[in-house]
Amino acid sequence: MYRERRIARVTILGGGTAGWMTAAALSRSFGDSISITLLESEEIGTVGVGEATIPTIHWFNELIGLNEADFLRATKATFKLGIEFVDWTAPGQRYFHPFGQYGAALPGVAFHHRWLKARADGLDLPLSALSLATRLAVEGRFAKPQGDTRSILSTLGYAYHFDAALYAAYLRKLSEARGVRRIEGKLRDVERHADSGFVTALTTERGERLAADLFIDCSGFRALLIDGAMAEPFEDWSHWLPCDRAVAVPSARTAATTPYTRSTARAAGWQWRIPLQHRTGNGYVYASAQIGDDEAAATLLANLDGEALAAPRFLRFVAGMRRRPWRGNVVAIGLSSGFLEPLESTSIHLIQSGIAKLLTLFPERDCDPALADRFNQLFARDMDGIKDFLILHYHATPGRQDALWRHCQTMSLPPTLQARIAQYRRTGRLMLDSEELFREASWLAVLDGQGIAAEGYNPLADTLDPATNRAQVQQFAQVVARAAPTLPLHDEALAALLEPAA
Ligand code: FAD
Repeated sequence: MYRERRIARVTILGGGTAGWMTAAALSRSFGDSISITLLESEEIGTVGVGEATIPTIHWFNELIGLNEADFLRATKATFKLGIEFVDWTAPGQRYFHPFGQYGAALPGVAFHHRWLKARADGLDLPLSALSLATRLAVEGRFAKPQGDTRSILSTLGYAYHFDAALYAAYLRKLSEARGVRRIEGKLRDVERHADSGFVTALTTERGERLAADLFIDCSGFRALLIDGAMAEPFEDWSHWLPCDRAVAVPSARTAATTPYTRSTARAAGWQWRIPLQHRTGNGYVYASAQIGDDEAAATLLANLDGEALAAPRFLRFVAGMRRRPWRGNVVAIGLSSGFLEPLESTSIHLIQSGIAKLLTLFPERDCDPALADRFNQLFARDMDGIKDFLILHYHATPGRQDALWRHCQTMSLPPTLQARIAQYRRTGRLMLDSEELFREASWLAVLDGQGIAAEGYNPLADTLDPATNRAQVQQFAQVVARAAPTLPLHDEALAALLEPAA
């Protein structure tokens, strides 16, 4: 009886990163107790960018049982220790947003308050000196984190850069080996139940009928089920995040690969540089109100560090989200649910976070609306938090004069972000909720990196002996500086993992 209520068939519409990540995760988690079909159209194709990730990717890779060396080889991946931001606060200025943490976890007073107090007591030491990931990035080195908290390596975090098209192909192979049925073709119609409004089947242009109990909309910006069939509106955030276009081009690899993404501010947006084993990914994310496509492409091509390997490709988007990505028996995952530009490489994270929520809240055939409500609340919380973090980057740019930046410097901020900046300025506190994606180190890196200085610190830090506190903070920076040169160069670390074991 209970089993009859179980979902037996799932259909996924779309075979981009979102579609194949979902297929890989569901097939791994449910085995053959659920039959999974994926419909995609080679003619329509995928967005196919999306090459930089954040450390939460490890959770997903473990979930699907991925072997790291296989994955690195198959997707031409490199390691990522964070993002270097160039020219954001003002031309000529740069800072690093590292994965991992600043300082050590000492009892009582958080390390960054110890640092703020040491600075107030006269210690001239930049925040960056307290991050091993930052130091390794500067030196082009890489090491993986280690669990032992007595080791400086425990302060590291890492993610990957990879070729998105190869990643989707890799996940497809895994998924098909686990029984996922792939249908090539274009969607023609969506059938819905007259009373419940639930989707009952998709039909293809060739006439196949794909019936299921649950439908996952991974159709990208087209959002064919969540928007097309379920008419869930899109909340537009472009007044806060005005960039709405990107032009992307791969270029030849010229030197050693850097273990980080670079993001360089430009007149009408910013340019990414993502090193892979076989090429470098580049793109200019820009506001079409400020610059034309031709000028954006010319700017990008003039700022490559190797020969362009293809013609520039243009993409259009709008920042924003759907408040109810789960409606009835349709769950939108990926670009169909919303989009935040790639400044902090969060889209693939949002896909896996959608998958994690779906697994936790996996419904029965009736698709209990309480489960959908919960999913939608958690999704909105993720999106709102990331949105605030991105807006901070655009807003705290006092030395940039172009129209885009002027607009962002003076625009009214979401109240949550405004309050956070004010609190940090006054007391050095970051005021994070326990579930927020970007943690203390990330906010600290960007606030401090973009010139927002904390005037105070937690009064608890005044209970520390000033000289001892200064010495401890300084000592940590010395440990970082001594450890970095003992660790391998990034390409060596990568090669060691890629080589088959002797
Ligand atoms: P898509 O890739 O668009 O896939 C949609 C699928 O639906 C395709 O298979 C298509 O064939 C299918 N489809 C559509 N219509 C039909 C139809 N009628 N019939 C049948 N099939 C259909 N993310 C990151 O994490 N890091 C990054 O560095 C990053 N950089 C980005 C840079 C840019 C400029 C952009 C725009 C995005 C970036 N992203 C990044 C986001 C990332 O690219 C996407 O999150 C990811 O590719 C997922 O896309 P998707 O699978 O939702 O959609």
